Amino acid sequence: MKKLLSLLTCLIFIIQMQAQQLPKVIILATGGTIAGVGTSSTSAGYTAGKIPIDDLIGAIPAVKKLANITGEQISSIGSQDMTIDIWKKLAVRINQIYANHEANAVVITHGTDTQEETAYFLDLVVPSDMPVVLTGSMRSSTAISADGPKNLYDAITVAIDPKTKGRGVLVSFNEGIFDAREVMKMSTSFTNAFGSPNTGAVGHAFDSKVEYYSKAEREVNTTFKITADTKLPVVDIVYMYAGAPAANIDDMIARKVDGIVIAGVGNGNFNTAYMDAVKRAVAAGIIVCRASRAPSGRVVLHDEINDDELGTIVSDDLTPQKARIMLMLGLTQTKDKAQLQKYFFQY
Ligand code: ASP
Repeated sequence: MKKLLSLLTCLIFIIQMQAQQLPKVIILATGGTIAGVGTSSTSAGYTAGKIPIDDLIGAIPAVKKLANITGEQISSIGSQDMTIDIWKKLAVRINQIYANHEANAVVITHGTDTQEETAYFLDLVVPSDMPVVLTGSMRSSTAISADGPKNLYDAITVAIDPKTKGRGVLVSFNEGIFDAREVMKMSTSFTNAFGSPNTGAVGHAFDSKVEYYSKAEREVNTTFKITADTKLPVVDIVYMYAGAPAANIDDMIARKVDGIVIAGVGNGNFNTAYMDAVKRAVAAGIIVCRASRAPSGRVVLHDEINDDELGTIVSDDLTPQKARIMLMLGLTQTKDKAQLQKYFFQY
């Protein structure tokens, strides 16, 4: 009996030693389909953000061999309800985790609808050598062949891989690894939902391994800083389409927004009604950024539109939803158009 007891103590000690040597990962859970519960396993209907993070971790016991994992519930929402306040909460907590050496890596579970926006916001406000990896799922936790557990497992392997350091914030999804600046939700329903139309994936996660093929060139250590008290300027997006009325922009001028991003056609173009309204917006001191509703390519300065004459700036290859984030953060530093434009080409 005595022998058995000392053997058990020995075993517990070895297990504890091994656990201490594993990297520490904190999962910040925000909700989404990955935490969604459906009424039937065979249909797409479900409610997002229902399953607590500890249950999500419990669904992938194999991960215990890779890392010491703890979860924190930041919110329990469908990511269509993502807010600037939750972004700030995430940014402040991540910076605190790394400042206090609480973990080696951070993983965020997140709905897919606005995942690319959260990823890019964090990319701009969290120093780059701190691994932050977002993931989610397209099928709810109760669906047949739910993709959440595999995506979460892969995201953890990506987050703890030494090669991930210095790459800024990443999205790990369906075995693809995507740079926060380039990633975009490409499908409303396929499990292969994410892509980077301009650059492709930077790597793959498979068989518990991580392989990178390329590295984003843009600087990821920005001058933007976020605290709980940071007030972000109001920047809204207006869509361009055949026959779009000036009222869409005039309404924003009347609301005294700080910035307007135009999801223009082609190379950030818009009709004469918008053109006149843009002149009014610029005259009112609003920063107007030309972006494009086209999913790939870039918006070029002084192409069909002379930006110097019109007083506009361009999004480069950022989608309208990411150009909005860049403009909001840029406007926390300056209202100088040349400097704002520089941020778009630099970060
Ligand atoms: N509406 C959900 C969300 O973004 C979709 C998903 O997670 O796939 O939270």
